[in-house]
Amino acid sequence: MDLHAALKKHFGFDAFKGDQEEIIKSVIEGKDTFVIMPTGGGKSLCYQLPALLLEGTAIIVSPLIALMKNQVDSIRGHSEEDHVAHFLNSSLNKAEQLIVKDDLRAGFTKLLFVAPETLNKKETIEFFRELTISFVAVDEAHCISEWGHDFRPEYRRIKEMIKGINDQIPVMALTATATPKVQGDIQKNLGMSDAMVYKASFNRPNLFYEVRPKVELVKQLIRFVKERQGKSGIVYCLSRKKVEEIAEALTVNGIKALPYHAGFDSGTRARNQDMFLNEDVDVIVATIAFGMGIDKPDVRFVIHHDMPKSLEGYYQETGRGGRDGGEGHCLAFYDYKDIEKLEKFMQGKPIAEQEVGRILLEEVVAYAETAMSRRKFLLHYFGEEFDEVNGAGANMDDNAVNPRPREEGSKWVKLLLDCIAELKETAKAKYVIEILTGRGNSQIKSFGHDRISTFGAGKERDPKFWMAVIRQTTVSKLLNKDIETYGVLKLTTTGKAFIENPKSFTVILDHDYIERAEDDNLILNTKAQGSAMDEKLYQLLKELTRSVAKDSDVPPFVVFQEPSLMDMANQYPITLEELANIQGVGQGKAKKYGAAFIETIGGYVEENEIERAQDIIVKSVINKSGTKVYIIQNIDRKRPIDEIAKARDMSIEDVLTEIENIVDSGTKVNLDYYINDAIDEDKQDELYDYFMEDAETGTVEEAMKEMDDEDYSEEEIRLMRIKFMSEVAN
Ligand code: ADP
Ligand code: MG
Repeated sequence: MDLHAALKKHFGFDAFKGDQEEIIKSVIEGKDTFVIMPTGGGKSLCYQLPALLLEGTAIIVSPLIALMKNQVDSIRGHSEEDHVAHFLNSSLNKAEQLIVKDDLRAGFTKLLFVAPETLNKKETIEFFRELTISFVAVDEAHCISEWGHDFRPEYRRIKEMIKGINDQIPVMALTATATPKVQGDIQKNLGMSDAMVYKASFNRPNLFYEVRPKVELVKQLIRFVKERQGKSGIVYCLSRKKVEEIAEALTVNGIKALPYHAGFDSGTRARNQDMFLNEDVDVIVATIAFGMGIDKPDVRFVIHHDMPKSLEGYYQETGRGGRDGGEGHCLAFYDYKDIEKLEKFMQGKPIAEQEVGRILLEEVVAYAETAMSRRKFLLHYFGEEFDEVNGAGANMDDNAVNPRPREEGSKWVKLLLDCIAELKETAKAKYVIEILTGRGNSQIKSFGHDRISTFGAGKERDPKFWMAVIRQTTVSKLLNKDIETYGVLKLTTTGKAFIENPKSFTVILDHDYIERAEDDNLILNTKAQGSAMDEKLYQLLKELTRSVAKDSDVPPFVVFQEPSLMDMANQYPITLEELANIQGVGQGKAKKYGAAFIETIGGYVEENEIERAQDIIVKSVINKSGTKVYIIQNIDRKRPIDEIAKARDMSIEDVLTEIENIVDSGTKVNLDYYINDAIDEDKQDELYDYFMEDAETGTVEEAMKEMDDEDYSEEEIRLMRIKFMSEVAN
């Protein structure tokens, strides 16, 4: 069989990627085959092509209904007949199921995607017995292992099901997460210990890894994104609430961003995803619900607002950057408090699951705090060696670019290994450190471990130092963290040899993240209050507002309102761009009325030799919710206010209040489509004139009082004020 010709014919590709050809041969020869390849490596083709070439139907077990549909569509796209691929899952009705079954019986279908739940049904198994099955492929096979990051119990019964159909069917497993532990679990569970194993390198040399302490997070985030203006990126957050908050903070600061999480209806999710793929927005802020099966080649940065629950997850998410081989900057923000939060969430889960979760988290912490090559650390985690001096992608992380201090640590390593030997290889890292630093607690005393020779022998170094030494000796294979016993430290042969004959060992000292981290929420709040206001400048600006208003023939509140002036007297903006970042000032307002203000402020700064914070000015979001973004988007789509209110389960008054906040913060909205329907023209003119000529403070209350005798509803007044402020002030 000419595989290259088949590849060209069915998929239009000229060459196989990586080990694809060998893998496909193995499947065609009927061998059990295990494929471990990073995301985007081209796993699908490894079962698609043999399925098309072999007699009978291949069953593909896949965890997500949405992914199945994509896959079926893509295979059909290469074929003349739709019946070449089908899926069978709970989303099909009876009639649709019958069509699928008819096509299967007729032998038309080469690939059938099933959910493990479907495969678990007796009638499915009985039906499959009637067919010729070429092989079963288990995609996303890490779901089998509870050490995989998305364990699915139904996945554990797949082998049983296959046996129920026919014991002789070859099995294929595919995954992008293969720590040695997960790999072993998969093979054991699927009864494929003798399988041909193909493991591609997980190294992604074009990705740059960086971890920063989570301080002044919003500011760091905005600066990072602004430095990459117009480039595509993903920001991952752990909670839906944070997703909405951050998307809003970015939007308010002039970055085109949209939120994405499973709490939105499917229409909104699809729309936001498409806008990202089509580059109508640059940044998508999302929970991990976003990204599976997304293949945008030019994602230039992946930011983790919070450290994820496991390095498997982290690696998959960062793997979405730089797929085209170009730049891909992976930046994660680390705060140990986030880890504690994650630990708290696990309480209430079964004990074994908690243990697993905690160990996965420990690895995340180790990664965040490590001072060694991050690429080496990650690849070690996935069971791969990496040469941090000459390997592809050496120097592509923060620790390489900005090296941590090092010292000769041979004697410390020796002490550590001695201690582990003295404890007869029964203790975990934390306990070993307690012994070395001589912190005797009752457990240590009851075991008599306070009397061993290494007790307290390392107390001149702090626990953090010891943690770093343990990590580095583990990665250097002097130690082994035994996963079956949840992390008990064991000596390797090399480790035992080191005790006999110590060698030089360079210890790299860690970052000290924990002490630097503080609460990032502080920034948002203090900025909003305009804490350290320059009173003298404020008075100058107030006067200036009055005179600019007079010159422009508008009331002063149209020019700038008080909170804006206070913010200016705090931030000292001296360019129009900086001015547009002030509370209540948008681009439009800055251009319209700003010139005189930056000039005055510039002069004032110079005269008084004021040292401005050259830092980026972050515009804060006063009401931190996704509601504003939602309303702005829907007004853009000319959706009536009452419908918006209904969709968000809000009253019309509340929606108007939100719109007023939007307008008062300097953003233009165009409600003409609604106002022209709701208010007749004469009334519109009268109210507009009132705001222009008679209003003093420009508030709704004032208008209600002034226009008392006329026949205006509060809603009409509020709508016209919004229109007026949008057109004249912003
Ligand atoms: P994985 O499942 O490993 O994450 P996919 O199977 O989705 O990866 O493949 C990733 C991308 O690589 C797809 O766009 C696919 O069309 C492409 N691809 C796969 N094999 C080849 C090949 N031999 N030549 C060119 N592109 C390929
Ligand atoms: Mg895949």
